[in-house]
Formats: sequence, structure tokens, C-alpha cells
Amino acid sequence: MDNKALYPLTCGLYVVGTKKKEGFGGCIVDAFMRAGNDPITAYLCSMIDNETNAIIKKTGEFSLSILPESIDPFIIANFGFQSGREADKWANVPYEVKDGLPYLNTAISYLRCKVISAQELNTHTSFLCEIVDAWSGTDGRPLTYNDYQKNMKSAAADAFKAFKSGGAVAVSEKPANKDIWVCGVCGYEYDGDVPFEELPDDWKCPWCGQPKSVFKKK
Ligand code: FE
Repeated sequence: MDNKALYPLTCGLYVVGTKKKEGFGGCIVDAFMRAGNDPITAYLCSMIDNETNAIIKKTGEFSLSILPESIDPFIIANFGFQSGREADKWANVPYEVKDGLPYLNTAISYLRCKVISAQELNTHTSFLCEIVDAWSGTDGRPLTYNDYQKNMKSAAADAFKAFKSGGAVAVSEKPANKDIWVCGVCGYEYDGDVPFEELPDDWKCPWCGQPKSVFKKK
């Protein structure tokens, strides 16, 4: 399967916001699609392992901020490359709260969604939702998943690296004979003393929690 052939499916990129017991949760999604009218419905597919998925199941509602092409790549990294179980993602971005849910300050449109039903897929939950409210934000073209993959992914990885190293991009001190393995999701670079191949099978990316299988040798 050529995964790149899936990129031109014209999904956008969206920040989902949820209300936690304390504070807010959320993540980046690309799988959000209009479904029917009267009431206006849509499908959200969200990864089962994500904290956001668990919160949506509990609360039955979420916000959706539609990202513009001009979005700061860090916002995508902030919501996509780390888990809400370890980080307060909303603390790193400008946002407003409306009726108990968080919305990014910079987005093209905003939707409020209520879950009607949910179906478990292998890796994701497909939530059928009613769009109960919607309003416009800033002007601009929506960012597509294809544009993100082609033009913005490495900038998002760089922004996240800089954020994780306190604002300065870390300088690699790799000896000439040492391999570096790069996480295909968040850009984390593994160059530890234990060779990558010898890390345990259940080892996970320390930044985004994805398994060894998403890593590629640099
Ligand atoms: Fe990662």
C-alpha cells in the first residue's frame, strides 16, 4: 500500500477540544466529514488510544476548530505530537472558552458537536455527531491534510523539537558511527546508547507514545 496515495483525500486538519474533569483536553484530527442534514450531522474518527477519545465517550461532546493554511506549525505539533495525559496542551496556545468548551483563537470556523452514536473500528472510534452550533472565524483557506503532509510536517517537527528543548533547537552530538532513528509521527530522534533494534518491542516514542514500527532510520 502506498500511504502517500491517501494524502490527496481532501480532509482538513482540525483541533478537537474537550472538557476534562479539570481543564481541557484535545488533539489534532483529519478524519471529520459532513454526513447528513436535518439535523446536520458529521463523522469524527478518533484514535481509540487517545485521551480525547475517552473524554468524548464520557462527555458526549467536543469543539472543532478548522485550521487555516497560515496556522503556526507549532499548534499542530502541540495538539498532535504529545498526549493530553502528560501535557496541558491548551496552556500553550491562545484560546477562548464558549459554553464550557475550548476553541483556538486562530481558526477559519468553529463547530460544536454532540455525539449521537459511536462505532468501534480496529484503531479508531467512528462518532456520528450532530453539529449543534457553528460560526465563522478568521478569513483564509483551510489547511488540507495533503498540504500538511507535503509542506508543513517538517516545520511542525522542528517547532516541537525547539519547544521540547526550551526554545533552542538541540544540536546533535552523534558520533559518526551511530544510527539515528526518527519517529514518523512527531519527529523525535532516537540516538540512545542502546541500539534501536535492541530496544524492547513495547518501547514507545517518548514524545508521542507511538510504537517502534513508526520509526525510520535517518
Ligand atoms: Fe513520536
